[in-house]
Amino acid sequence: MSATSLALLITIDGPAGAGKTTVSKLLAERLGYRYLDTGSLYRAVAFGVMTAQISLHDDIGIQRLLKDSRLMLEPVTSGFHLKWNDQDISGYLRTSEISMMASAVSAKPVVRDFLLDVQRKTGQNKSLVCEGRDMGTVVFPNADIKFFLDANPDIRALRRYRELTCSASNITLNAVSKDMRERDRNDRRRVIAPLIPATDAIIVDASNMDISAVVTCMTAAIISIFGDIPMYSIHETPACLEKT
Ligand code: C5P
Repeated sequence: MSATSLALLITIDGPAGAGKTTVSKLLAERLGYRYLDTGSLYRAVAFGVMTAQISLHDDIGIQRLLKDSRLMLEPVTSGFHLKWNDQDISGYLRTSEISMMASAVSAKPVVRDFLLDVQRKTGQNKSLVCEGRDMGTVVFPNADIKFFLDANPDIRALRRYRELTCSASNITLNAVSKDMRERDRNDRRRVIAPLIPATDAIIVDASNMDISAVVTCMTAAIISIFGDIPMYSIHETPACLEKT
């Protein structure tokens, strides 16, 4: 396979606050690929369930909602633009209520089945870095390379707290840590698609690594398996224009 034709499907799974989103975006930028944040899909469903005031116990109501709603992932240069019934809801998805609701709806087979299709369709052309909880185990078991990004829970809570205080000032580190641990517990213990590393995943412990070290570690792993593939420099010019 020639270097220019290398269209890989790369998965990054791991618990909340491990840095998956930033790392996935940067890795996709390095490779000139698109990036897919699957957590935002569960958050969008949580938003839909909350705004329609459907009870979490009402699986039939949730199923009807999913059937009657339009969840769109419009491709843009670096990733996908998420719309719920033609509305850009990205500004509503990062609250702690939505995080907890996303964690609750994500345990429901009806929700996971619905989103499985959406995710698989999005990944069919590869050249994609996708992040979530079950990317390498359930959604894309045949992915070209799988990573599991983890970090010490206290460090993850602190990172998430810093991220959140950029947009909201009325949160405490304790509250963030408590929510995060509860979501992790739900994600790891649920019956379908629990958060576990795929047996063939490369485990990266980012407790003592900054983001760029994690990206360097992942690109090194990719090169060691697939050879010297084209890489783009980050943050300088649009990723599609500049090669290192
Ligand atoms: O990644 P993020 O924190 O945005 O995900 C929100 C929630 O969505 C997670 O806590 C998890 O319950 C759920 N999720 C999932 N499977 C994925 C991605 C997210 O169950 N692939």
